[in-house]
Amino acid sequence: MSTTRTALVIGGGIAGPVVATALLEAGIEARVYEAYPGPSYGIGSGLALAPNGVAALDLIGAGDPVRDIALPVTKMNMSVGGKLLQLPSLSEVPPLQVVDRSELHRALHQHAVTAGVPFEYNKRLVDVREDESGITARFTDGSTSTADVLVGADGIRSTVRNLIDPNAPGPDYLGMVGFGAVTECDADVPPDTMTFAFGKRAYYLYWPTADGRVAWGANLPHKEYLSLTAARAIPKTHWLETLRETYRDDNPGGELARRTTEDQLEVVGALHIMPPVPHWYRGRMVLVGDAVHAPSNSSGQGASLAIESAVQLARCLRDLPTPAEAFAVYERLRRGRVEGVAARAAKINHSKTPGPVARKAMQLLMPLMVKTLMNPEKTMGPEQRYRIDWDAPADDELTTSSV
Ligand SMILES: Cc1cc2nc3c(=O)[nH]c(=O)nc-3n(C[C@H](O)[C@H](O)[C@H](O)COP(=O)(O)OP(=O)(O)OC[C@H]3O[C@@H](n4cnc5c(N)ncnc54)[C@H](O)[C@@H]3O)c2cc1C
Repeated sequence: MSTTRTALVIGGGIAGPVVATALLEAGIEARVYEAYPGPSYGIGSGLALAPNGVAALDLIGAGDPVRDIALPVTKMNMSVGGKLLQLPSLSEVPPLQVVDRSELHRALHQHAVTAGVPFEYNKRLVDVREDESGITARFTDGSTSTADVLVGADGIRSTVRNLIDPNAPGPDYLGMVGFGAVTECDADVPPDTMTFAFGKRAYYLYWPTADGRVAWGANLPHKEYLSLTAARAIPKTHWLETLRETYRDDNPGGELARRTTEDQLEVVGALHIMPPVPHWYRGRMVLVGDAVHAPSNSSGQGASLAIESAVQLARCLRDLPTPAEAFAVYERLRRGRVEGVAARAAKINHSKTPGPVARKAMQLLMPLMVKTLMNPEKTMGPEQRYRIDWDAPADDELTTSSV
């Protein structure tokens, strides 16, 4: 029988609202504290939720609200040096659900509020104090709040991660800055398909939107690291010029870059991957989502894994008597799976910024890559077919879990 009654959730992005809603379902009162002044603040561009992530949302009743705002995508193409190949897909799995990031935040926030989760904004965590009876969070405005446990859902630059372990690693920069836009495009863009394009100088991806336009995301090589604030401080005219130059020989990349306007361009910021984090929890504090396992945007799994971990953490706190036991089971259920996905994504990251020789080799090897490396059952099957048995006791799963 669990002794955990209350939780402070730090961060109101994706993992935060999901873990709070799942905790409520598990009989634990949760309250979310977000540093920004409101939900979906200053974020944009598209995000694809994988079937495993959507299935985890279904467990807390948030699957339908997200499907309502999403575009289902059933096919995937790969394009190398302009040559297009359809990637084999998994049979009998639901489609990817492509959502606008800010709409996803809004939907998850709304679902959590309707379920009864209170949110507080302008609350940036700076410190904690912990004793046998509970944990107290202190925010920059001087206010405090106390509960049985504190969940760090505070993203890739997590403060909670450093409070757990001051020597914790930070994210590794991938040498690329991300951009997103939805724009008009006359080029032939296949319907119901997401295309991953290894262009002449840089990687990008694109898909058609419901209103007849085309959404695209660019991974622009950029040696020097830029914080999001620094990247956004650079005038968009500069970024558009650079994008147009970089993708000028690509089809439809050239047209997409040319037609994207300053208003349409979203500067997503530096792209990262989290190396393995040695300590997922300490005392009454635990991490979830990008704070502990950001597998990089190449995985297409960051948000989905964050959602899965959020649900699994709530299940563990429901089923294990103490926070310490719950956190230990949670880590054992999750670490292997999330590190496996990050390792697969790391291989893709290397191919996004290849030199000229590697680029030529990729073109020659493409059909073979599609047949072997891209064996969907082997690469995607374990990721996308993963399902959480919410009703079963969490510790029972340890004997059967994989990936
Ligand atoms: C370019 C790009 C494309 C991507 N594409 C995909 C994709 O297609 N599919 C996919 O599944 N994933 C994708 N991802 C990854 C996905 O966006 C993340 O994995 C996901 O947002 C992680 O959710 P989170 O809740 O852990 O963190 P976040 O969404 O980052 O939320 C963390 C929240 O914590 C708040 N916070 C931070 N510090 C504090 C503090 N001290 N006190 C209080 N609040 C705080 C922040 O303001 C933020 O709201 C992509 C990422 C990038 C960069």
